[in-house]
Amino acid sequence: MPELPEVETVVRTLNQLVGGKRIQRVEVLLNRIIQRPVEPEQFTAALENQLIHRIERRGKFIRFILDEIVMVSHLRMEGRYGLHQEDEPIEKHTHVVFYFTDGTQLRYKDVRQFGTMHLFATGDELIMKPLHKLGLEPLDESFTYEVFHARIAHRSTKIKPLLLNQEFIVGLGNIYVDESLYRAGIFSERETNKLTELELRKLHTAIVVTLQAAVEAGGSSIKSYVNGQGEMGMFQQQLQVYGRKGEPCEECGSLIEKIVVGGRGTHYCPQCQPKEPS
Ligand SMILES: [Zn+2]
Repeated sequence: MPELPEVETVVRTLNQLVGGKRIQRVEVLLNRIIQRPVEPEQFTAALENQLIHRIERRGKFIRFILDEIVMVSHLRMEGRYGLHQEDEPIEKHTHVVFYFTDGTQLRYKDVRQFGTMHLFATGDELIMKPLHKLGLEPLDESFTYEVFHARIAHRSTKIKPLLLNQEFIVGLGNIYVDESLYRAGIFSERETNKLTELELRKLHTAIVVTLQAAVEAGGSSIKSYVNGQGEMGMFQQQLQVYGRKGEPCEECGSLIEKIVVGGRGTHYCPQCQPKEPS
């Protein structure tokens, strides 16, 4: 499952590859990907002759900003976009093809078929499902410590499930929550309203730094990331705790442990993230 930094990298790559192109027509090969409008024929008709002004991200959703409509796309488990020339054969698992006026094609492939596409009049996408309830955007300038503190300070839940809640903060996912809490020195099961001001400040910084480092990793590996077919894959950045059970902590040498918190596998350093802070 791609997390926020991967989706951010896909969005940046899409801007380079298809920003400024005009859609001639669209072919839907698998109807279930299209969620709105209900009829795929209406979807393809609305996209005809639209210019892709730019591509933006909201949480893990990709927003294609067109002339007067917006296409919202979610990759879910395995969805991916690739830019192709018209003479390249259509590969298996290709479900939607966007034909551009310059002869190139953006193809959406999805082995698991869980990905979705919605069309909205511009602006409506932010106040309607599935984007309407999304929480704080951690890579946006609006994500200040003051905003974070105001939203988090009085919560009585455990910190990890709160950070995974998309209505509170978007796009962190299991991996980057573990990495952020490690960086901030906070144990996943601590109660949110018992965290100190200093811990909340460390956590805010840790979330931003962790995600930015991941986006940088995606950006710097962008050449290998877009393969010969112009297809965007997922990268794995260097992780400090996630997936490192039994390996030594880079800070203190203690062995990384794995437990289950809120039903999710959780990696932490027992020394750097004490259960009962002194
Ligand atoms: Zn440690």
